[in-house]
Amino acid sequence: MPRLVIVSNRVNVPRQGGNAGGLAVALEEALETNGGLWFGWSGNVADERVQPPKKTVHGRVTYVTTDLSRQEYEEFYTGFSNSTLWPLFHYQLGLLEVSRKSFGGYLKVNAAFAAALATMIRPDDLVWVHDYHLIPLGEELRRRGLKNRIGFFLHTPFPVPEMLVALPGHRRLMKALSAYDLVGFQTPDDVRAFIEYVVGEARGGVGPDGWITLYNRVLRAAAYPIGIDAGAFARMAAEAADAPETRRLLASLHGRALVLGVERLDYSKGLPQRFEAVERLIEIRPELRGAYEFMQIAAPSREDVDRYRALKRQLEAAAGRINGRSSEFDWQPVRYINKSYDRATLAGFYRVASIGLVTPLRDGMNLVAKEFVAGQDPSNPGALVMSRFAGAARELKAALIVNPYDIDEVAEALGTALTMPREERINRWRSMWGVVSGNTVEAWRNAYLRDLSAGAELVRGKETPAAADLAGQSPVDGGIGPLMRHPERRPAASTGLVG
Ligand code: UDP
Repeated sequence: MPRLVIVSNRVNVPRQGGNAGGLAVALEEALETNGGLWFGWSGNVADERVQPPKKTVHGRVTYVTTDLSRQEYEEFYTGFSNSTLWPLFHYQLGLLEVSRKSFGGYLKVNAAFAAALATMIRPDDLVWVHDYHLIPLGEELRRRGLKNRIGFFLHTPFPVPEMLVALPGHRRLMKALSAYDLVGFQTPDDVRAFIEYVVGEARGGVGPDGWITLYNRVLRAAAYPIGIDAGAFARMAAEAADAPETRRLLASLHGRALVLGVERLDYSKGLPQRFEAVERLIEIRPELRGAYEFMQIAAPSREDVDRYRALKRQLEAAAGRINGRSSEFDWQPVRYINKSYDRATLAGFYRVASIGLVTPLRDGMNLVAKEFVAGQDPSNPGALVMSRFAGAARELKAALIVNPYDIDEVAEALGTALTMPREERINRWRSMWGVVSGNTVEAWRNAYLRDLSAGAELVRGKETPAAADLAGQSPVDGGIGPLMRHPERRPAASTGLVG
């Protein structure tokens, strides 16, 4: 295996006593195996002078982090990445902010990252770029002459072309994607949306062998649904059942069922609609009053983006309103907590929850849903109420699947979950655990890296699982079969972008 280079917006530099999540650990393991480099933003914003990139070595892995200037932070990070691409990729066109200045800043930071990184890359390194902040990075590396295999994985959803074209720079962005050898998405739906753009907007083509021609480049695209370290998480939750925080939470419930929501405070997570659904539940199932409590953990996130501050105020008001209207002297339906907890503490909370309430309006995957499943007691598991618009819904079919915009439906599903017999909960949980324990984060990483490094053989005509995915044989059903029936569409004339 060649050396691996990972590029992501944030870099997880290991610290003493740090509590890295499943993804960071899985990537670190891959870097350790053959030695590697992890490059990205340090998380620091330099108000004065941006320092040169900082290098830290741990075992066989070198971490290189670079600061952003205040202007770069505003244009690249809070601007184009989080006020333009994030809402667009989460189907929130009403929240889309369009600014040429921030797009320019985004391109510039990607070019600067590539300039700093290019000199550190060896000719046979495998390069894996992560997420929407860094779409143009591969193209910038190619501009500097890199011929390496370079892959990209998008952790968010990919919007259908009808939405993507609302972005003034959509062509520029898609051209940048064409510089990669393998573009990975969370679900077959995202792959399909990508292909629809390739064929319908960019006049590219998809060959019968799964190869995609886009702006004079040949690449592949496939779905790699990300998972968690399921076994380790299940063990952590079983141990956390006895942790002081878990016991305090249980004691505070006085035997009531816990309906639990856990996320970053983000408008893609459907929190105002979820609060409304809880309010509706109180109305439509009065006999269940006092039998449950809804606890929403909303970890602070992107607080310097206006939309996020507004959402925080909205949720505080909603929690106050529901409790003000419906509480009894001995019952309060909503606990709203604007705070983050470490994963070990969360694992204990999942363990004692009767219902996991995961209702994003749109989500690339949603790892909380998978963690909730892994955290359950197999002999008496809780039920999962899950949005159809989360990538995880494609896999967790035994959850109670709801449309998060349909407040009545979510309220009814909550009523069903609260009264679900143990046998049904066990059956549903077994089915979900089968998926979560099979599609782990290690399996995801290995499948992606296998396909990225298998590219050379593919050129010689061998079929790999990625190409099979494109033909509709993905482990997650619903591949892009019908699109494969248009191999006759020819690529557009050369745009001269990358050879
Ligand atoms: N998380 C956490 N502490 C919190 C809230 C969330 O550690 O207070 C973790 C959670 O356990 C999960 C991740 O953050 O691993 C959220 O991932 P998900 O895919 O659900 O959503 P994202 O935040 O990436 O949109």
